[in-house]
Amino acid sequence: MTLLSVTNLVAGHGLLTAVREVSFSLDTGEVLGLIGANGAGKTTLFRTLAGVHPAISGTILLDDVEVTDSSAFRRVARGIAMVPEGRRLFAEMSVRENLLVAGENGRRGPWSLDGVLAALPALAPLLNVPAGGLSGGQRQAVAIGRALMSNPKVLLLDEVSLGLSPVAIEGLYEQLEGLKRQADTAMIVVEQDLDRAMGFSDRVLCMLEGRIVLEGDPQALGKQAITDAYFGLAHLEVTHA
Ligand code: ATP
Repeated sequence: MTLLSVTNLVAGHGLLTAVREVSFSLDTGEVLGLIGANGAGKTTLFRTLAGVHPAISGTILLDDVEVTDSSAFRRVARGIAMVPEGRRLFAEMSVRENLLVAGENGRRGPWSLDGVLAALPALAPLLNVPAGGLSGGQRQAVAIGRALMSNPKVLLLDEVSLGLSPVAIEGLYEQLEGLKRQADTAMIVVEQDLDRAMGFSDRVLCMLEGRIVLEGDPQALGKQAITDAYFGLAHLEVTHA
């Protein structure tokens, strides 16, 4: 069932158009990998979906209800949660407080503090630790837990592995794999590691200069086609044909 439907979405920064006529849909429980080089428009797209950046035109429907102009707060209440690049936790507050505050502003649903601790077991021993004292991987896990506390239907994960050690990345993705099986939460994941993105996602979308230039099942598309789209080689071939 279609959960999120995005049609001809346009967003920008001043005179620069960063998201150009982007259209895609996302089904309940589906995992979509959003890939593209630096500056392709992935973060702007995420921020526009989450309501912290305005759309210039186009529509965003969540469960057939238009949310294109809704505030970020209303979108969280309707079920869109973003884990932003850079995490942004309340450093002075404990992990428990960071999680509980998020729960107060979300949608009613299955996730509770106990559920989040079961899904992200690394957080259990850290509940009373101030978030400011955590390692990068721990902070990232708290940021994901915080998003889950709002009971999202769609979880937007922006470069969750950025700046983490290989061991921390492995641990984080193990926990995300567990999430896929536990809830019917759909996820859109921005991931720079193409192999990781291909392995984790049901479907990939590749952005180049604000547009989606390739979309499909990652195994059916294959690494070469995805790499070409990522670097714009497929695009050049098309435009020069
Ligand atoms: P990255 O992987 O580097 O985060 P991205 O694919 O997420 O890249 P965006 O951050 O969305 O891409 O950037 C898309 C375009 O918008 C780029 O040309 C970028 O320079 C520009 N841009 C992004 N944020 C701003 C801003 N706050 N002000 C002006 N231009 C911006």
